[in-house]
Amino acid sequence: MTTSEDMVRAALRAASASGADVPIGAVVYAPDGTVLAEACNAREALGDPTAHAEVLALREAATRHGDGWRLDGCTLAVTLEPCTMCAGALVLARVSRLVFGAWEPKTGAVGSLWDVVRDRRLNHRPEVQGGVLEQECADLLERFFRTQR
Ligand SMILES: [Zn+2]
Repeated sequence: MTTSEDMVRAALRAASASGADVPIGAVVYAPDGTVLAEACNAREALGDPTAHAEVLALREAATRHGDGWRLDGCTLAVTLEPCTMCAGALVLARVSRLVFGAWEPKTGAVGSLWDVVRDRRLNHRPEVQGGVLEQECADLLERFFRTQR
């Protein structure tokens, strides 16, 4: 059985491949617990403002999932609270469950600034678990920004 901690740990491993980009990683799990896709933030690497880890992982997962673009039953694990774009993308992808690590008080859209995924006006609302391995996820970002200064 893959726990939420295992999933965020896998996202942390994915984040370590981010190179010059802010280290954020995401992993999509199929309903049976197998990994469908993993990605790291690649905004700098791809020169693409939308190349967030979550979006890249969702795109890849949708190509591998048997049910086309619908990721019903799937779980997305990410090291940082998603932004508005990514929160919107995972609702559109019909992801059933979101697990994330650190909270993002400046841009977070899953509880911090907004709560895009649990808006009662939406008919699809994923289950959310935030703050999983929060300290490890925050430390990874802090180490990165310390070396940037
Ligand atoms: Zn994002």
